[in-house]
Amino acid sequence: MGPVSTSGRIRVEIDGIVQGVGFRPFIYRLAQRHGLSGWVCNTPAGVLLEAEGGEEALAAFLDEIRQEAPPLAVVGALRSTAIPLSGGTGFAIVASGAGEGRAEPPPDSDVCTDCLRELFDPADRRYRYPFITCTNCGPRYSIISGIPYDRPLTTMAGFPLCAACRSEYEDPADRRFHAQPLACPVCGPRLRLVDAGGTDLPGDPLDRAIGMLAEGRIVAVKGVGGYHLAVDAANGVAVAELRRRKRRNDKPLAMMVADVAGAAAIAVVDSMESRLLAGPERPIVLLRKRADAPIAPEVAPHSGYFGIMLPASPVHHLLLADNRFTALVMTSGNRSSEPIAYREDEALAQLAGIADAFLVHDRGIRTRVDDSVIRVFRGNPLFLRRSRGYVPRAVTLPAGQPSVLAVGAELKGACCLTRNDRAFMSQHIGDLQNVATLESLAESGDHLQRLLEIAPVLVAHDLHPDYLSTRFALERTGLPAVGVQHHHAHLAACMAENRLEGPTIGVIFDGTGFGPDGTVWGGEFLVGDYAGYRRAGRFRQVPLPGGDAAIREPYRMALSWCHAALGEAAFALPLEGWTGLSDQERALMRQLLERRINAPLTSSCGRLFDAVAALLGVRGIISYEGQAAIELEALAEEGRPSRGYPVPVVARDGLWEVDWAPLIAALLEDLAHGVAAADMAASFHAAVVEAAVAVCGRLRDETGIGRVALSGGVFQNRLLTEGLCSRLETTGFTVHTHRLVPPNDGGLALGQAIIAGRNGICV
Ligand code: ZN
Ligand code: ZN
Ligand code: FE
Repeated sequence: MGPVSTSGRIRVEIDGIVQGVGFRPFIYRLAQRHGLSGWVCNTPAGVLLEAEGGEEALAAFLDEIRQEAPPLAVVGALRSTAIPLSGGTGFAIVASGAGEGRAEPPPDSDVCTDCLRELFDPADRRYRYPFITCTNCGPRYSIISGIPYDRPLTTMAGFPLCAACRSEYEDPADRRFHAQPLACPVCGPRLRLVDAGGTDLPGDPLDRAIGMLAEGRIVAVKGVGGYHLAVDAANGVAVAELRRRKRRNDKPLAMMVADVAGAAAIAVVDSMESRLLAGPERPIVLLRKRADAPIAPEVAPHSGYFGIMLPASPVHHLLLADNRFTALVMTSGNRSSEPIAYREDEALAQLAGIADAFLVHDRGIRTRVDDSVIRVFRGNPLFLRRSRGYVPRAVTLPAGQPSVLAVGAELKGACCLTRNDRAFMSQHIGDLQNVATLESLAESGDHLQRLLEIAPVLVAHDLHPDYLSTRFALERTGLPAVGVQHHHAHLAACMAENRLEGPTIGVIFDGTGFGPDGTVWGGEFLVGDYAGYRRAGRFRQVPLPGGDAAIREPYRMALSWCHAALGEAAFALPLEGWTGLSDQERALMRQLLERRINAPLTSSCGRLFDAVAALLGVRGIISYEGQAAIELEALAEEGRPSRGYPVPVVARDGLWEVDWAPLIAALLEDLAHGVAAADMAASFHAAVVEAAVAVCGRLRDETGIGRVALSGGVFQNRLLTEGLCSRLETTGFTVHTHRLVPPNDGGLALGQAIIAGRNGICV
């Protein structure tokens, strides 16, 4: 016999992702199972409940709230207090109450297995219905316009429930109890297939769209957070036509396949990759190509990888059912450099001339959310782009701070809002180089502010005075502004997501960042924390001939490094790109280098990778950002480090400087001796690792700090990151990398936000 149970009543406040994920019905069922009475409701802060019953039952109930929470829920803080008994019978879900805003809206999710089964069950009333959803799945962030998350504050507000749906909505035992986007073919949104003029095409929209795709036509498909352009990935002519119409040369196109087996048929998939592919977030995962994959070479030329995702919505499942396609290309529906289209009028206008037809529907998208892109690194996702499925999931900071809006830099834009100890990164915005993407940044920031009910007291921005994001922060937010140095922000972002406090060595390998000394930084060794930093080491600086033109034309960087290594003799080298220039163009380029006209000094690591890629004949001129470095990594994976290149580290101007000129000279010798380019690429990666380890060792000797954070866009390179992590660890360092936000500028706002939040306006 156990002790006689006494009764008690508790009041429980829960925050985290607990709205729109079936949390109240879950509490209801849990309370019933334990024979408890009381009530539960949504508040702007999350979920509030009171429960009364035996003490043991209450204890078990509390444990199970965390252990058995619904699949899409993330239980944050859970505060339970004992209150006086009030009696009563039964457990009720009551109307939403008021309170301080702390709720966290859920991300978008693919359909759950229950809904998927119904979707393909001819006896189900939602058989082949593209808007099937329940409390465990479906769109959320992209359709919510305010908090509390209830149907009137979603884009489903205009679809009154039919009697059958209403009874599901009101039945606490039903999987669709209070599922806000609930719909059926009787009362919900419908698909249409229209031409570029918006006129309906005859026939069943889905069947006709599938027929067009099978014929090699291009169809714009409205997905969860915007439009994709779809085409049969096995049809090379069709894929080439898509590239021509979209004016996209080489950049790999993402594909969608029906399931994990479909992915494994065209690419190598390990167990972690298959988990990420099949998870409710449905990111694009970079996977190594299978050589015999029946995919048109035009999909991902010059790349060893495919970007693959599984269906992210019922429409996608229906398009890919029955093995009709090995894979569909699913690339963002935008003109290059414009944000992804998400409204029907915008899609028709932007994509006219690209898409042959548009598969649209009347469920609105409240905010555009592009696809997420990841690769797996050491069993964790390494985000190249953090967006749909992950946004607005919070990153928990090491401590609470004032609310800050951080606006990022220029490339891979994303903003960040903080509330107490939570940081909310926005979806991927794109490169902030035109007004359309800037407006998208403003919209995304507003959307997050409204959903999270955050009123920031500070705005953080990059130090670059000409970035559109900087001007936005200074001119349009009306908030006290804090400028944050680019690479300090990278360091802080990596420290914040790893919840580090105190001095840390930052190895920040990046493309471009504004240096306070007026030069372009990017191969940096910082020592610092959130409060400040010291530049303790850097790559040797060389001219960036022609400024931004040198980013688009890596051969210019090869020439610049050869000039640094050999002087005058560099101009006689048979460098691809250089040799094709006219005499006049060559004279101009020599002037740029010799007289430093329009050639700012840079220590950029990304530009060093560009230079080596051009030198090895990988790519002299690029058609998308990072192309040369990406292709150099792919080449290096095919090779073996054949020799150790010399990389001297010297003390200069009070910091450690890594000189790459001897390596460039050695590469030129190897080229002349016909060494395999793949082996040279591998040796170069190894040399970058050794140089970084050497500098970190000197900094540890000086400071006693044995902790290193790796950040910056170059760490999207898995070969380099793996090599550097391993070598630093065997040398006794503790190494921290990014797992929650991208190492590139897509994660920068997190670092800006914590630096501004810790330092107020006096950085
Ligand atoms: Zn479902
Ligand atoms: Zn209905
Ligand atoms: Fe950066």
